[in-house]
Amino acid sequence: MADGNASTGTEGGRAGKALSPFLAQYMSIKARQPDALLFFRMGDFYELFFEDAARAADILGITLTARGEYNGQPIPMAGVPHHAAEGYLARLIAAGERVAICEQTESPAEAKARGSKAIVSRDIVRIVTPGTITEEALLAARQAHLLVAVGIAGAGTGIAACDVSTGSFQVFEVPAGELGEALAGLPAREILLSDSDRPTWLGEALGPVTCSVTPRPARAATPRAGEAALKAAFGLKAIDAFGSFSRAELVASALLLDYLKLTQAGGVARLDPPCRRPPGGHLAIDPATRASLEIDRSMAGTRQGSLLATVDRTLTAPGARLLAERLARPSRDAGTIAGRLDAIAWCLGEPDLAADLRACLRSVPDIERARGRLRLGRGGPRDLKALGAALKLGEQAAALAGRRMARPPDLINTAMAALTLSNAPELGALAADLARALAEDAPLLARDGGFIAVGWDSALDAARYLRDDSRKVIAGLQADYASETGIAALKIRHNNVLGYFVEVSSRHGEALMRPPLSGRFIHRQTLASAARFSTTELAELAGRISRAEEEAKAREIALFEGFVARIDALGASLVAVAGALAEIDVALAGAVWADEAQAVRPDIVRDPVFEAEGLRHPVVEAALKRDSEGFTANDTRLDASGETGPRLQLVTGPNMAGKSTYLRQCALAVILAQAGLYVPAKMLRLGLADRVFSRVGASDDLARGRSTFMVEMVETAAILTQATDRSFVILDEVGRGTSTYDGLAIAWAAVEHLHDKTACRALFATHYHELTGLADTLGAAANVSLRAKEWSGGLVFLHDVQPGPADKSYGVQVARLAGLPKSAVRRAEQVLKRLEADPSRAETLPLFAAAPVDAEPSGPERSAVEQALDTVDPDALSPREALDLVYRLKSLA
Ligand code: ATP
Repeated sequence: MADGNASTGTEGGRAGKALSPFLAQYMSIKARQPDALLFFRMGDFYELFFEDAARAADILGITLTARGEYNGQPIPMAGVPHHAAEGYLARLIAAGERVAICEQTESPAEAKARGSKAIVSRDIVRIVTPGTITEEALLAARQAHLLVAVGIAGAGTGIAACDVSTGSFQVFEVPAGELGEALAGLPAREILLSDSDRPTWLGEALGPVTCSVTPRPARAATPRAGEAALKAAFGLKAIDAFGSFSRAELVASALLLDYLKLTQAGGVARLDPPCRRPPGGHLAIDPATRASLEIDRSMAGTRQGSLLATVDRTLTAPGARLLAERLARPSRDAGTIAGRLDAIAWCLGEPDLAADLRACLRSVPDIERARGRLRLGRGGPRDLKALGAALKLGEQAAALAGRRMARPPDLINTAMAALTLSNAPELGALAADLARALAEDAPLLARDGGFIAVGWDSALDAARYLRDDSRKVIAGLQADYASETGIAALKIRHNNVLGYFVEVSSRHGEALMRPPLSGRFIHRQTLASAARFSTTELAELAGRISRAEEEAKAREIALFEGFVARIDALGASLVAVAGALAEIDVALAGAVWADEAQAVRPDIVRDPVFEAEGLRHPVVEAALKRDSEGFTANDTRLDASGETGPRLQLVTGPNMAGKSTYLRQCALAVILAQAGLYVPAKMLRLGLADRVFSRVGASDDLARGRSTFMVEMVETAAILTQATDRSFVILDEVGRGTSTYDGLAIAWAAVEHLHDKTACRALFATHYHELTGLADTLGAAANVSLRAKEWSGGLVFLHDVQPGPADKSYGVQVARLAGLPKSAVRRAEQVLKRLEADPSRAETLPLFAAAPVDAEPSGPERSAVEQALDTVDPDALSPREALDLVYRLKSLA
């Protein structure tokens, strides 16, 4: 195995006896991080060895080679170029790996100075894990990237969550039973847990978690360690200023901060002060509900097709992240919701100003992440530029809004105040300095230099002058030497071996080697056609030039660090600016979407009602619009008290009529309204819900060893035990996963429980027509149905909700539409006819199966178009009906 800088040949080959110094160094560093792939820096490459090499080669598809030997075997090796490491890191992290970055901590020259055989010293500077990455290429711009720690102390459960890329940090406690919901509401990339005793309920709560879960040693997870870590992270003597922490919250903080310290290799966590739980709490949405309502990702696992993707009109990445957070954790606080709705209403009322503000926001960079990188020591001049630009654009936005006479609502007002730099003189000074100090083109890394504008710093200008002026000085010296020696062709040149030197033709070289000139010109080299000489003046000049270059670089880095320190010190004001920009973006985006979707402001009331007129499902509607089809809006009236309407609706109707869509649109309206957004309806009156539950469709969870029916029952059980009278519940076809009578019995009991015991607003869709009779016995239940019309042997779905139960299911017709083989459809029709005539025959199915089948029509099967034409009497058709028929035949064909 060879060191990239000091080739050591196959010295690893002696392993098994004494390890070579190089292999010993590798082994001792690797032993500290056995679970992570070790990126071992060698010159311009990160090399991986042994098992790591094989794993990385497999995941990355890079070549696996071998270098040196260990115990008589070649050592597998794979490498990635240092400059392209980010892309490879991204793929390894996505594959669930953790990567320890081991850098050279001295230059080869420094190593040599320690001893001729010394190898370059190296150390792990960072461990890249899914929850701690900060590289722009590895982060999704419009998604938060949380590292979440769960702490348990006695009966308490605490959560500490941070986004290392922005520095945001939150700590709160949740009831143990709500941990699953709380985790589902956080976009966690990695969850930390103590490796000590884990209660069974913790396993349940973590069941739906898809991100990596990292166990951490229990000894670091104590309240005392948490308090010490918080004090150390924020340089405080006491943590009372952050409010009082429960023991579980301290345990969670200990886990989180300790892990940050480990992965940032001893660096101090650069987090903002912890944000505590907002007043009023959040609308609880459990993982199953979140998935079935497709809030931030569709059933297919993509953002596209989700509620978030449908309503998101934000222009900035921080705005997109704030909107995602609002939808993931809608509020339960009427004041908070009203504030957000006021902001949208204001934007809608000021369309011109809103357009100007959006034009301004369009170019606002992501200052949350730029600041995060700078504070972590991974930022560069472009991050400074981003901050400067955001401050300037923020100020412009505030000025735009300030021109209006009418006072904006509180949320906008507070945001604009945070953006008005005259309110924070130090921030104003920073913005002005950044604007003047930074050159037009900024390199990615500070060490590349050239990002401070000319005229900003006199010492830097002087060093640069010396560096850049060297050409002129050298040209002058060349002229002097030429006249002094009388050799007009004398040149001063430069190469890496000699540095600056004087060059004359061989013919003239003799003259310089003879006194008196030989006193000044020191002979260095003779080539075939030229002779080269150095002089003391040239050597001095070369030293000055390289010193000037170093000086200019050092000066620029010092100026950069100065700005970083100022930015760090202005943390709270910059957090306020970033928050204000995101807030305005979300309000403006909310208004744009409301306008496009013709959505209205929900009326939040005290009574436990849900009254909607002309409500639509935003995602289905958007999908239909793409196909140029219209969406049928529907009204819904529910009242948990049973005073102004039913508390429970039994929804029946044919397959494909739109029952699921109807149920979901109601649940989505609750989520949109409580997130502080407008709802796609003509009117919505809503009493705030504490929880939303949705059990829609059936799905296996085989990975967790649960069948379809088991999943259905577990979810239904969760709803019946956890819903309160302030909850909003939608249940779709509960009981369908088992035999008819078992299923009917379970559905029956679930409806009664929801109606009598939970007494919450609920929508219950079912194909069990027997259940519709419950509306007569349960005082606050009502039947509604979606209709379909049989027409020309086919079905037309009307998608509108009407009072009363459905007459039948049309299942067989839908099966025909779906393309079931015609013989199977015919057989189904026969069976259905017999069952309808005498349901008791269902018990004697074997007999029934043996019953003679009506004679099959002979000859080739007739097409759907032909069959449809059978029922048509051309003379009886109106022109309009004839046209409809053409459309229908076309669709059948
Ligand atoms: P099933 O009983 O088979 O589960 P369903 O009654 O629940 O069916 P949905 O899945 O809600 O039916 O809807 C079927 C399709 O009908 C949707 O994908 C959508 O294209 C369309 N649809 C539903 N509701 C409406 C509506 N209100 N307006 C227009 N189209 C709708």
